[in-house]
Amino acid sequence: GPVKRTLESYYTTIEDFPAEGILFRDITSVLGDADGFKLAIDEMLKAIEGEAIDVIIGIEARGFMFAPVLAYELGKPFVPVRKAGKLPRETVSATCTLEYGEATIEMHADAFPPGSKVLIVDDLIATGGTAKATAQMVEELGGVVSSFLFVSELTYLNGRDLLEGYKVHSLVTF
Ligand code: 5GP
Repeated sequence: GPVKRTLESYYTTIEDFPAEGILFRDITSVLGDADGFKLAIDEMLKAIEGEAIDVIIGIEARGFMFAPVLAYELGKPFVPVRKAGKLPRETVSATCTLEYGEATIEMHADAFPPGSKVLIVDDLIATGGTAKATAQMVEELGGVVSSFLFVSELTYLNGRDLLEGYKVHSLVTF
């Protein structure tokens, strides 16, 4: 039969994007292959199997490609974390320092009830700055981070260290 491909094999790598010296891992080639996307979702669901989760957060923009699919599959609500100024109702916000630049992100203040167990999803963890800022907003609203789930991880940026004390899942390491 056909050779079974790994999730990693669906990624493409672009040098000097979006800035000089950055090795960019492109998720669009995973999503652009029906088998690649299915493999990603299947492996994500497997990673969080048995975890107690009330709500699933996706981080703009690439977290939006995965978190709603998981929410649909698990029958849980989806909550977006967006760049500042995009959400229409009252928000909480946090600022994060990134691999390239800085950003303020926001979440609706009424996104979930206090005590909710929250899964935080993004396509990739680099420095962990975005993920950490998201956890801060979750906790400000009285939520509990059940775990972080990333399709891939840039291990050389040590994002896991920033998320010390949390459960962190990643499927592919670069
Ligand atoms: P961090 O906050 O962990 O430094 O950066 C993570 C964010 O940057 C994620 O939202 C992710 O989508 C984006 N990002 C940084 N580097 C890459 C990369 O090489 N590939 C992709 N797909 N996203 C990246």
